[in-house]
Amino acid sequence: MNKVSPKFLTLKSQIIDACSVCGGQGWKVGSAGIQVPCSCMREMTAIAAIAKGNVPEEYWAFVLDSYPGDRVVKEQMKILLDCWRTTGDAKYLTLFLTGPYRRGKTSLAVSVAKAYVDLKPDSTVRYITARELESVHFDSNNHRGIYEIAEVDFLIVDELGKEVTARNADPTKRAMRGVLDIIIRARRTSQPTIVISNLDLESIKKWYGNNLNIIFTNDFITAHWTDKSPQINLR
Ligand SMILES: [Zn+2]
Repeated sequence: MNKVSPKFLTLKSQIIDACSVCGGQGWKVGSAGIQVPCSCMREMTAIAAIAKGNVPEEYWAFVLDSYPGDRVVKEQMKILLDCWRTTGDAKYLTLFLTGPYRRGKTSLAVSVAKAYVDLKPDSTVRYITARELESVHFDSNNHRGIYEIAEVDFLIVDELGKEVTARNADPTKRAMRGVLDIIIRARRTSQPTIVISNLDLESIKKWYGNNLNIIFTNDFITAHWTDKSPQINLR
């Protein structure tokens, strides 16, 4: 954590040096005549937040506005972001992105996280795989790990279900429920969480059992990729 990688520095020089709005200063004159951050600096702030939150580098450059998916997806995500921005509104806090590999689920999640940081500057982001969550669950001394997950403003849990196949052993219900349990226990306040899985929701329900019902009793949103575009269920 807190690393500044060569990729970050390259992106930074590309964005700041190429900016035609502020000439690379990072600041421009706003409507009231005062200096406001230029979009290039806002982009760098968002990238810094996701880099600090362990988001893999290949996803850093994704931006919601240029997300290559369906226009409807972007519009729905903006509605969702507006929901999340409104303090005290605890609806729709969990978003499940489900579907096969290589459909852009993680890149969409990261784009949304960056947009969230842009809306609420100083927000913290954490990216963690279900497999890593499972090890936090089994390490009963790792209170700090759970605390960190609970405190973060925006959580992305990737590869739900893969921790079972990666273990290459009997999937125990206890371990799987432990993963969801951490998500649920850690996310009782108003921080948004995106859970990504290659399983569909029915399989997730079947595999993870009762703990998922706790999520199901609350408002949540699903976006399931069938062919190319996801079917979004903004209820
Ligand atoms: Zn600029």
